[in-house]
Amino acid sequence: MRRKGLASMAVQTVATSSDTTVDLGPAAALSCRECGHRVPLGPVFACEECFGPLEIAYEFSAYDTEELRRRIEAGPANIWRYAPLLPVPADVAGKPNLNPGWTKLVQADNLARELGVTGGLYVKDDSGNPTHSFKDRVVAQALEAARAFGFTTLSCSSTGNLAGAVGAAAARAGFRSCVFIPHDLEQGKVVMAAVYGGELVGIEGNYDDVNRFCSELIGDPAGEGWGFVNVNLRPYYAEGSKTLAYEICEQLGWRLPDQIVVPIASGSQLTKIDKGLQELVKLGLVEDRPYKIFGAQAEGCSPVSTAYKAGHDVVRPQKPDTIAKSLAIGNPADGPYVLDIARRTGGAVEDVTDEQIVDAIKLLARTEGIFAETAGGVTVGVTRKLIESGLLDPALTTVVLNTGDGLKTLDAVAGTGLTATIRPTLDSFREAGLA
Ligand SMILES: *Cc1c(COP(=O)(O)O)cnc(C)c1O
Ligand SMILES: [Zn+2]
Repeated sequence: MRRKGLASMAVQTVATSSDTTVDLGPAAALSCRECGHRVPLGPVFACEECFGPLEIAYEFSAYDTEELRRRIEAGPANIWRYAPLLPVPADVAGKPNLNPGWTKLVQADNLARELGVTGGLYVKDDSGNPTHSFKDRVVAQALEAARAFGFTTLSCSSTGNLAGAVGAAAARAGFRSCVFIPHDLEQGKVVMAAVYGGELVGIEGNYDDVNRFCSELIGDPAGEGWGFVNVNLRPYYAEGSKTLAYEICEQLGWRLPDQIVVPIASGSQLTKIDKGLQELVKLGLVEDRPYKIFGAQAEGCSPVSTAYKAGHDVVRPQKPDTIAKSLAIGNPADGPYVLDIARRTGGAVEDVTDEQIVDAIKLLARTEGIFAETAGGVTVGVTRKLIESGLLDPALTTVVLNTGDGLKTLDAVAGTGLTATIRPTLDSFREAGLA
């Protein structure tokens, strides 16, 4: 087995308050992504045979395509419209949850003109979620799993956005939350995580140190009964990213995009977008045509793009140093799977400098009125770079993800401000050359 990440963690089974079988809708079992070994649904994340990561396996075979499409279209304007394809109970829409998703797919004609895209360019704007990042999707899933397994505390290691999403979801659902972040995150992310009233702990170290700490806590009595959304609930958490793929296709009129540009932190989101697209093909909800998935990183934390460009299939960890803190995972658990997907679909993995990230944030804001966080600067910047290098075909339909809100990373665009300061007189206005 060539992957690491979770493999280095011990296999853990966390005792839950009941041994009754859980009902998580179409989810049938947990299956190892490396060896295929199956275990019953539970709060476990690593294979007992090979230490590979576990993921949800489904029974979709009973679905009639047209009936499923009707059911989805008649569903709520949030991720639960796809409940038949997610590891959640059938009555999930009635439970206290932030109900994220169904965010805008913006037809970005102005940006397309600037970048020379002629085949249709769209921004999937996930800053429109309840805590202003894509993380609400994954946390919503993890929360339902936590409920099913009888956990009452939600926890996570976070690069910032996840902390806010967990804090808010726990508040809404009446769970305790205790989340861990690197101590030096952006003020906007810290406030956004703290305001919901849960416990927020800064760890002296980077994200990879925080993650290691959480893995230890999970095996310790101090963490007993805790649902760590991105550790022991990771198989459920990860499925939330499939809803991005479902929404994009449904919003395109039940059609696959030709190209999609996805940011990479741990790489989980990118791998599950691919899984979601494949499911739609298998279920007959979209026509089977080739699509390419492109991964986007910041140069200051580019372990996956470095491996991609070197032709490697292992990802060497890096020490992050970039303004794109939400993507600053130096040892990405899903890195090798991202490489597989980029290569299999004919995509690529590329990175941009901090300066290019800032330029791209401003470009998106100036052309489409969307203020992205640094991760959105990464995807837009990488899109521009991929077009220039010829890897991304401007004549094809392209979707770029914006996964977070610029209000949380104001420092990135510090220096952007007043055009002029004038006295409240017309003379002063004219003198400033603004008339
Ligand atoms: C967490 C995060 C991602 C992607 O995370 P993965 O670990 O790769 O799934 C992308 N954008 C933002 C803004 C995030 O917070
Ligand atoms: Zn295995």
